[in-house]
Amino acid sequence: MKKDSQSASDKANMDSTLRKITKLEVPKSAFVLLVLLYILSWMSISNISKNSGSIMILGMNAPLSSFAGVFSSLGSALIILMVVLFGKLGFITSLLLLIFQYPFMVLSILVRHTVSTIPGVFSNTVTMLVIILIYSNNRKIRKYQERVRAQAVIDALTGLPNRFACTELMNELIKRGSKFAIVSIDLDNFKSINDTMGNRVGDEVLKEVAKRWKELAESGKAGTVDFIARLGGDEFSLIIRGYGSDDSIVNTIKVYEAVLKEKLTIDDCDYYLTASFGYAEFPTDNADEVTLFSSADAAMHEIKRQGKANHILHFYPELINKEKDLETERKIRAALENDTVYFNLQPQYDMNHKLRGFEALARMKDSENKIIPPDQFIPMAEKIGLVDQIDLSVFRKSATFFASVLKKTNADLTLSINISVKHLMKNNFLDEMKEAIDISGIPVKNLEVEITESIMIDSERALKCIEEIKKMGIKVAIDDFGTGYSSLSYLNKIPADLLKIDKSFIDEMNSSDSSRQYVASIIQIGHVLGLEVISEGVESPDQLDVLKGIGCDFIQGFIWGRPLDSEDAEKLMLTA
Ligand code: C2E
Ligand code: CA
Ligand code: CA
Repeated sequence: MKKDSQSASDKANMDSTLRKITKLEVPKSAFVLLVLLYILSWMSISNISKNSGSIMILGMNAPLSSFAGVFSSLGSALIILMVVLFGKLGFITSLLLLIFQYPFMVLSILVRHTVSTIPGVFSNTVTMLVIILIYSNNRKIRKYQERVRAQAVIDALTGLPNRFACTELMNELIKRGSKFAIVSIDLDNFKSINDTMGNRVGDEVLKEVAKRWKELAESGKAGTVDFIARLGGDEFSLIIRGYGSDDSIVNTIKVYEAVLKEKLTIDDCDYYLTASFGYAEFPTDNADEVTLFSSADAAMHEIKRQGKANHILHFYPELINKEKDLETERKIRAALENDTVYFNLQPQYDMNHKLRGFEALARMKDSENKIIPPDQFIPMAEKIGLVDQIDLSVFRKSATFFASVLKKTNADLTLSINISVKHLMKNNFLDEMKEAIDISGIPVKNLEVEITESIMIDSERALKCIEEIKKMGIKVAIDDFGTGYSSLSYLNKIPADLLKIDKSFIDEMNSSDSSRQYVASIIQIGHVLGLEVISEGVESPDQLDVLKGIGCDFIQGFIWGRPLDSEDAEKLMLTA
């Protein structure tokens, strides 16, 4: 019984919120105030007229210079205000107030023979005509406004509330601190209905689904107070209130799932639909409308991805990272598909500030032109097996650019390309390299590949590949040196040309004697093995001084050059 009354009040709350969205409401207290003011004016006038020995009526014959005149004009203004602000209610009240005055006026003329009241009758009648005109005109405008407002909150295809209405309702519930669950719903395989049967059939399916869910929400048969909205496409949203436990949320969702699953027939064709449902709760999961929506979405995407018999999932925090990863994955796929992966070139110098060459660094933007950091997309691309495509794209583009600028200058510069070990291990890696070199026209002696130390550990296959690269005449650099665990004997086996000391050691270098000695010994070992050494991430003059002192050969770092776009890199190459 108690639950019933709670449900009823929940439902009333939802209804009143929706009404508020669709209607422009002036507070009722303002209406009472206007009526009171009017009665007060009327009483004041009656007083004045009693004192002056004649009956006067509001909105009529007193000259404005007198007090009675002021009150009478005020009365007319209040009457008009009531009609303008309160529509039907204001109009009927005003009309009654005006009609109410006629007996007094007739009494005044017939019994007391006050001739001065006759213009009052006339004035009262004119006021009545004026408010009838205002009211009928206002009604048309109001109707139009309501229709426009309704269109803003109603989805045109299905007649369900739209995303805006859903957001408004959520905000209202959050403001009140009322507990609710937001369910993100996406029909499964709806695209295939659209693709195979056409958009008209797709629309009919959406309309039928909306009709079933709307009826269910309005009937309250699911045992909770529900609000269903269409967000667009085949995405719907359900707000559930008046539930006791997590189980009752799931039970309600199951009822919606069951009515969806019932056979749906359009143009004699039967459809059996399913959907994925993800939900999040206020206030336990999230406290604001935007994160509630995205949490419910994350749960929905996850359960859809799992593709299991169960189609309902409650949000849990780890999903957010998963969702971000998927987002990055989508962006990588899109960038590769649209061929928008591009490169920057970071200069490398010898210790006398003479340009040695550049490292090509992959860059990627999303569809909104926001830069995605390589620390984010490279590991993801490795995970999903797309890093070779990124490497190759950067290789082709930067090598083509580099070859064309090399032709314009006599300088002997090196282009360093990052190659992921996963890429290196691919069977056709060498063929791809050769093809890219041919197409770009870059001389092999100007080319270097950077391979990360950490993943080369004892891989015979990688070693063979590196030997092949060397045979082609390309230089080999061991990247991020010091971060892996390769033994000296293995390092000795790699036919490399250059050691790149990782930035983390350069960062630490000036913090203690031992750190500096560590970098110094790497440089010595490199030299013993016949390799040149470059330090990465050099930022300060102190670091530069120390590196000069301990015999480093090259540096790459913000102190002398950040990664440049091709235009700036070209300028630098032409002045080298
Ligand atoms: P990395 O190969 O070690 O590249 C050097 C990174 O250090 C670059 O970051 C560069 O901008 C940054 N750096 C250079 N000097 C300084 C400095 O003085 N201070 C600071 N704070 N940073 C400096 P970026 O471009 O963000 O690249 C990050 C990583 O992404 C690279 O590290 C590399 O592992 C990977 N990467 C970039 N492009 C490619 C590519 O085309 N293919 C592959 N497989 N990996 C790439
Ligand atoms: Ca590198
Ligand atoms: Ca590096």
